[in-house]
Amino acid sequence: MNSSPVRQTVDFEADGVQHGHLKVPYSGDESAWGAVMIPITVAKNGDGPTVLLTGANHGDEYEGPIALWSLSNTLESTHISGRVIIIPAMNYPAFKGGKRTSVIDRGNLNRAFPGRPDGSVTEVIADYFSRILLPMSDYVVDIHSGGKTLEFLPFAASHVLEDKEQQSRCMNAMLAFNAPYSMVLLELDAAKMYDTAAEAMGKTFISTELGGGGSASAKTVSIAKRGVLNMLKHADILTGKPELLPSIALATPDYRSFVTSEHSGLLEMCVDLGSELIAGDVIALIHDIERTGSAPVKYKATINGVLAGRHYPALIQPGDNLAVIAIRSGL
Ligand code: ZN
Repeated sequence: MNSSPVRQTVDFEADGVQHGHLKVPYSGDESAWGAVMIPITVAKNGDGPTVLLTGANHGDEYEGPIALWSLSNTLESTHISGRVIIIPAMNYPAFKGGKRTSVIDRGNLNRAFPGRPDGSVTEVIADYFSRILLPMSDYVVDIHSGGKTLEFLPFAASHVLEDKEQQSRCMNAMLAFNAPYSMVLLELDAAKMYDTAAEAMGKTFISTELGGGGSASAKTVSIAKRGVLNMLKHADILTGKPELLPSIALATPDYRSFVTSEHSGLLEMCVDLGSELIAGDVIALIHDIERTGSAPVKYKATINGVLAGRHYPALIQPGDNLAVIAIRSGL
């Protein structure tokens, strides 16, 4: 396979803190022989594990970028043992455009793995992660949120994996990140995800969903910042023990956790995130906005559980994810 066309301006083997870019060639209307310049920070001190921290895999999710830009400005190499690679905005063209997907090629980076060195800009970014960054990493933390169309309870997530030793490493990392909720998550569409690429290499991988709606709150940003420092302590890159607060264990064991809208209209949520639900409880109404005088459609809880996610905008379409109902689980 071809080598990656991406050039980094940092030396991954050098001790100290370096701030640079991943230069992804892109020839567009504004810049004929140009490049997408993805900011990267590498902090290294001696031997030790490597932690790879990323935000804005989807460009409209902001806790990751805020926490990681902040970390890149404060981390000192003398504080660490090992290496920390920080990429606050992984799908940089999506992030700069304030969109979930790339404004260059509409690429959803988290559906582009393992990527291609001779593909679209999004596929080239995925390929660089697959063949350069993931192989050099031991721990991989990808900070997501709901973006403009979803809102979640703040949770760190890991997956059920065939390799139970790896699954337990990932779950321990999820618990060390220590979001208010810890979720064993079923992915509906795992084939081309970054998560799947990292897990297939045996990495200790966790992701998060920390809020949503296309912005970030002081509370969710503080969860991200604390989670990242906790992960660096968990990996023995920073000294000290992770600061652990109570975290509620949840799981989405099968498709029944995901409620899909079959109607268009005005969404009236009847319960808020974190509410305890019994199967059959009305969770939302969808009002017909073409006319008055017709009864709204009722959407009911499919299982007993906790409302862990919801459609964020007040208008909804058929096919939109209306709600995520997680069960309480004993980890
Ligand atoms: Zn995301």
